[in-house]
This record gives sequence, C-alpha cells and structure tokens, in this order.
Amino acid sequence: MTAPLVEVANLTYDYPGRRALDDVSFALPAGSITALVGPNGAGKTTLMRCLAALDEPLHGSIRLLGEDALADPPATHRRLGYLPDLFGLYERLSVRRCLTYRAWAQGVPKAEVAGAVAWAAERVGLADRMKEAAGTLSRGLKQRLAIGQAIIHKPPLLILDEPASGLDPEARIELARLLRDLREGGMTLIVSSHILAELEDYSSHLMIIDQGRLVSFEPLSGERRPAGGQMAVELRFLPGSGDLSAALAAAGYPATVSEDRATLTLPDDPAAAAAALAALVRAGLPLVAFAPARASLQSAYLERVREARR
Ligand code: ATP
Repeated sequence: MTAPLVEVANLTYDYPGRRALDDVSFALPAGSITALVGPNGAGKTTLMRCLAALDEPLHGSIRLLGEDALADPPATHRRLGYLPDLFGLYERLSVRRCLTYRAWAQGVPKAEVAGAVAWAAERVGLADRMKEAAGTLSRGLKQRLAIGQAIIHKPPLLILDEPASGLDPEARIELARLLRDLREGGMTLIVSSHILAELEDYSSHLMIIDQGRLVSFEPLSGERRPAGGQMAVELRFLPGSGDLSAALAAAGYPATVSEDRATLTLPDDPAAAAAALAALVRAGLPLVAFAPARASLQSAYLERVREARR
C-alpha cells in the first residue's frame, strides 16, 4: 500500500461560539479523488481551508507528504492547489497573464514559467484562448481558468470547494473529465459538492461530515450490497398497477414499494434472480424493468448519515 498523501489527526476548529470541526481524523490515499459531502454547515469548507493551511485549527495535526502542513503555511501552499467556492479572477488580464501571474506567485522558477503556463492551459483546455480577457470567458471557462491557476505549480494535492456549482450540464461533464485526467496525471484530489450523482462519476472515495464530525470515509470501488451474500434488485412496474405490495407478497416476493418501483432482496445468485423474474411474470405483475440495484453515492450517503444520527 502506498503511504497516505495527507494524514489528519484529531482536527478541531472553533469559530467564536461554534465548533465547526470536532476531532476529525483520516488518511487520504495518494492518487485518490475524495468526494467530500455533508449538509450545509457541516464543516466542509472549514476542513478544506485547514487542509490548505489557510486556517489554523484549535487542536490536531495535518501532515502533507509526511511533513507538518501547519508549521510553515507558505511552504504548504506551494505543495497544494486550492479552489475556493467563491473564487475571483483578474478579469481584465488575459488567460495567459492570469496563469503567468499565478506561476510567479507560486514561486515557479522564472525559466519554467512559460512551460508551466502552456502545460496548465493545455490541461484545462484553454490553450486556444490565451489572449482572451478572463472577464469575457463563460462561467465554465472561468472555472477552468481558476483550476488552471490552482494547478500551475503541479501540486501533488488539489482541493476544490464546490467546483461544479453554477456550471451547465455540458460544463459539468467536462469538469469531471478534467478531474479524472488530473488524477491520471498523478494528483490526489479532494472535491466538495452537493451534487452526488456527479461526484459518483469520478470519485474513488466518499468522505461524509455532519455537524463537524467525520461520519465515514470509505473507498467507493467495493460493491455496496446487502450483507450476507444477498443482492438488491430494482423493479419498475406500469404506473397505476394497483397494490404492488400485496401483489408482490402474494407472489412470494415481499418488497419495499415506492409508487411504481420496488426493491427486492434476493440471494446473490443469477438462478435466484431468474426464478424471481419468472415468478413475478407468472403472477401477472406488469413489470417494465428488472435490474440489479446500482449502489449510488446518494443512497450510501443517506444511509451513513441516518446511521450516524441514530
Ligand atoms: P456549505 O455546504 O453550506 O458550504 P460547509 O459544510 O462548507 O457548508 P462551513 O462553511 O465549513 O460548512 O461551516 C461550518 C460551520 O461553521 C457552520 O455552522 C457555519 O455557520 C460556521 N461558520 C463558518 N464560517 C464562519 C465564520 N466565519 N464565523 C462563524 N461561524 C462560521
């Protein structure tokens, strides 16, 4: 196993009269994309600002690449990229100048600045817009420029606070592609968002915080199934099919029903699925779809938050 890129231990952060982070500990694997989710006010931005060495916690430690990230914040800033939820650009500067200015600010050696600017512009798909003023770019392109600025020094860690907010569907797809590309290029990313379906496209890990506490941090690669060798199957019926709960129970397959949909728990065996489908059709149930339930980030999230609040 590779060493974690970031190790956080017992992080606690207080605003006057309010604890925003409460004893948060985790280790972020190198090469991961972590989806950071939680309700409004959970502490996501506070956690990201602490990780970015922009705010100093009350207690706890953060190690980035094995070094104390809080001991020397300017040194930490050079080892990570941070995109705040509300970012500003120098609107009258061209794309090239915005990137160049940031390269200087991040201490990229003079001889390497032009190369870094070309690299970042290429990565975020702005290489053909170098002369355009930042202020004239669309929302999606401004977002790309801001990410280009955040990665100009090729940091090992990139922290993005709600990067998809305000983007149209096409720009979101492009953003997802860009984040995957950056990961493939060796970066470790942590991305907060409220749009779970979208995070699902590119995240390798899910971190949930609620009321300042870490609820869970887990890899997403493993299949999420009901315990004990079972599988969940989603059924869809013709709308207005009557009392589906009763009909499913009568067919020998009691299930959780919601309007024209139902979720069935079966033994994890294709023969069991085939038998259930045949029995439901024989019983005359008006099925229009029968498919293994996809573990969604949304259901994992809701499940974990409910468990934590119990
Ligand atoms: P959202 O999803 O709404 O962006 P968040 O998960 O990013 O929320 P934070 O912005 O980290 O949450 O806020 C955590 C808690 O700290 C909230 O209760 C918030 O009201 C409080 N808080 C945030 N900033 C300040 C501040 N400058 N002064 C006092 N309290 C603050």
